[in-house]
Order: sequence, then structure tokens, then C-alpha cells
Amino acid sequence: MSAAKKSKEPAFGEARKNGKCSRYPGFFKLDVTDRLDALDKWTNLSVKEKWMLKQETLTPELADLMVENAVGVFGMPLGLAVNFQINDKDYIVPMAIEETSVIAAASNAARLIRDQGKLTAEASDPIMIGQIQIVDSPDAEAAKTAILDKKDELLSLANSSDPVLVELNGGARDIEVRIIDSLSGPMVIVHLLVDTRDAMGANVVNTMAENLEPIVAELAGGEAVCRIVSNLSDRRMARARMALNVECLARGKYSGEEAARRIVKAYHFAEADPYRAATHNKGVMNGIDGILIATGNDWRAVEAGVHAYASRSGTYKPVSKYYLDGKGRLIGELEIPMAVGIIGGVTGIHPGVEILLKILNVSSSRELAQVTASAGLLQNFAALWSLATEGIQRGHMTLHARNVAVFAGAFGEMAIKVAKEMEKEGLVRYDRAKQILRKLLVREADENGTTPDPPDEK
Ligand code: NAD
Repeated sequence: MSAAKKSKEPAFGEARKNGKCSRYPGFFKLDVTDRLDALDKWTNLSVKEKWMLKQETLTPELADLMVENAVGVFGMPLGLAVNFQINDKDYIVPMAIEETSVIAAASNAARLIRDQGKLTAEASDPIMIGQIQIVDSPDAEAAKTAILDKKDELLSLANSSDPVLVELNGGARDIEVRIIDSLSGPMVIVHLLVDTRDAMGANVVNTMAENLEPIVAELAGGEAVCRIVSNLSDRRMARARMALNVECLARGKYSGEEAARRIVKAYHFAEADPYRAATHNKGVMNGIDGILIATGNDWRAVEAGVHAYASRSGTYKPVSKYYLDGKGRLIGELEIPMAVGIIGGVTGIHPGVEILLKILNVSSSRELAQVTASAGLLQNFAALWSLATEGIQRGHMTLHARNVAVFAGAFGEMAIKVAKEMEKEGLVRYDRAKQILRKLLVREADENGTTPDPPDEK
């Protein structure tokens, strides 16, 4: 199959079939202010909103309302991954993340797939599970029957605690009962399934579970202990799929087909070995966590769900898989629980989230779930492609060199010069950065006729 490029794209911000074009060649070459100004073609951010993104969107006063014993706010780099196209709609994806390479890798993989392949995603209804734990029931099977017999009443009672959600066509949908063995003997575990619409839903579900507790305990003739949402939200799944012409994967000494076969073998390694699967899935979460933070979502909840899902067979497994389809394409597929919201929780409190959701332009929690799953898959694919060909360090080191230079005491233009020299030498190390910095400072001082400042000791 030929890896011919698709037909010419409209320019950034111009109308395409489905919204605007997010393809922005050279976005990384702009400075911070120019990147924010470039967004004028994408969405209507006010001068104040751009200023807020550039500074710090969260104030200490707001932080004090959000957590206990607040003493301030903690900054993190915020970047935009461009070029995303999912289900034929373009996105610019905000990521709050401290790790170098992630935003670049996501943007590059997104560019490659929109040019040479296809990225699709889907998400299930936003069904969350609330658990009510009943202990010391004299007859667990009888308790199960008694609870299921009252299903309709229990669902009505649950829904009476959230008329807003019910009005929005969400609310309690079903009740399931499991009997489990435990260190304390048999337990009756009631699962309340709730459609939480555009909310993540932990608070919604916790409230409903607490409301049901007395009646459920009475029906079971036992005692209720925990009433809490489950973070293994396996009724709220997101799936992403990429198909890419193998020819475009040629890198270094490897042809596209060889690189694709090596990517599949790298996946087989993760499939067979939990030590590798953990790092494989970490790569997936590299693409997801930054979006969760930028959109005010509970990333611990999603992390817990993904890793629990990865272990569902009893052995920790990768959450994505890769294979060749026999038609010259590499296929990548990812499936994970994705409990995210665009309403409720921190989303309505953090001023930055409102601006970033405007840039992301998703209209439902399901659409956000599709974007996060797609970003996880792209990030994972980008890492495997590097790993299976030239190795991960080459690309990573280019960006990492700047961090090392800053850590050694360089800043601004000087940090870039130090980083470039380390890259030229192929030696990115703290001690070498200090030596180069000292050399450049002396040279600069000689030229200016001043005494160089010693680099900061760290
Ligand atoms: P929430 O209670 O702040 O907001 C949800 C409410 O918003 C709903 O009850 C509904 O009445 C209302 N609403 C308005 N418009 C809506 C719409 N379009 N769709 C859905 N609801 C709408 O938030 P939440 O999502 O229930 O809870 C999320 C928070 O819970 C997060 O901050 C999370 O950190 C926290 N939390 C998590 C856990 C856990 O994951 N284990 C446990 C406790 C709390």
C-alpha cells in the first residue's frame, strides 16, 4: 500500500468538514505569547484569559477554599498538543505536565496519523458504580433476593437525591448484588449503577449509596460498612483505534515494515511481562494525566481505574495492543475505564479549567473520554516507535538537555546554548552542563569586560 499523503489541508484555524483545522506546522517554534495569539484563529480567548493562562490561573484565595491548610499554589508547565484529529474532528489538546517530550510526541504522532492514517474513538454511556458493603447477613442468598426484589423502590430512592441529574436524563439505572468471600466471611456487595452524564460522578454516587444504606442493610438483615464509588469504573469505558500505513514508519536503519514489526514485538513483550507492561501503561498515562489535570479531573481516580482494569485477568497486562492488518497497516487499539467530567468537582472552581475546556472544545464527558483515550494511544504509539527503532533517549534528550542546563544554573538564552552544546557532544549530564555553562559565562564576560557570576550551586 502506498503511503501517499492525504489531500492538502486547510490552514490552521480555517474551516474544515468538521469544525476548524488544528494542524499547525511549527507551533513549537513560536514563543509563548505568539502561541497564545495564534489561538485567536482557533477560539475567542479574551486578553484577560490569555494573560491568566500565561501567569497562574489559580489564586491563593481560591486554593484556600479548595484544600485545608493552603499556603499557596503550585505551578506546572501547561502546553497545547496540536494536530489532533479524532473521528474526523480536529482538537487542540491542553496538557499540564512536567515531563519533557510528551506534548511534542503527542503532536507529532497526531500529525503523522492525520496525514497517513486514521484515529477513531468511542466511549460508553457514563455509568459509574457505587458499592454498599453489607456484613453479617445471616443468609447472603436470601439477602440478595430481597434486595433485587426491591430494585425499583431502591432506584427511585437513589434518584430522589439528585433531581438535577434525573432532569438531564441521568440517574440510577440498575442494581446488581454480588456475594464475595472475605477475611470476615461472606459479604453482600450491592452495586448501584448510575448514569452521571457530564459529571465524573463520585460525589453523586457516594450520596446515593449513603441514602440507600439503611434500607439495603435492613433488607439484608446485616450491617452496612462502606458506601462508596468504585474507581474500577469498567461500565464507563473509552476506546481508541489508530490505523497507520507502515511505510511512513521508516526510521534510522529500519524500513517502515521492519519498524512496524518491531513495534508489534515490543507490544508482545508488554503482553508477556508485567515489568514491561507497567512501563507500557505508564506511557499511555503520559498522554492522559496532563489532560486530566488541565481539565480539572481526578487523575488518581482514572489511574486507579486503569491499573485495576489492566489487572483484571489476575496478571497485569498492557491496556493497548498492536498488530499488522495484512493490508500494509499497523493497527493500535486501546481500551480503558475513563471516569471524567466536564462539570462538577474542580471543573467549575478552577478558573484555568474553564479556559482550557474552551480550547479543547468538547461538549460532553463522553467526548472528553474519547480525547483522553486517543491521546493515551498516540503517546504510547510514539514511545513504542522510538523504542523499537532509534531508542527513546535520542528524542527525549534533546528536550531533557534544557532541563539539565537549567538545573546546572543556566537560564533563558544561556540554557538553550548549554543544551545545544551538550547535544552536539552527545553528552547530556549535569557535570558537563556546569562545565559548559562556566566556559560560556567566562567567554561572555571576556567579551563584555566583566567578571562572570558563578553558576548556582544545586
Ligand atoms: P459534583 O457533585 O460537584 O457535581 C455533580 C452534580 O452536578 C450532579 O449531582 C448534578 O446535580 C449536577 N449537574 C449539573 N449539570 C450536570 C450535567 N450536565 N451532568 C451531570 N451532573 C450535572 O461532582 P461529581 O462529579 O459527582 O464528583 C467529582 C468529585 O468527586 C471530584 O472532585 C473527585 O475528586 C471527588 N471524589 C472522588 C472520589 C473517588 O474517586 N474515589 C471519592 C470522593 C470524591
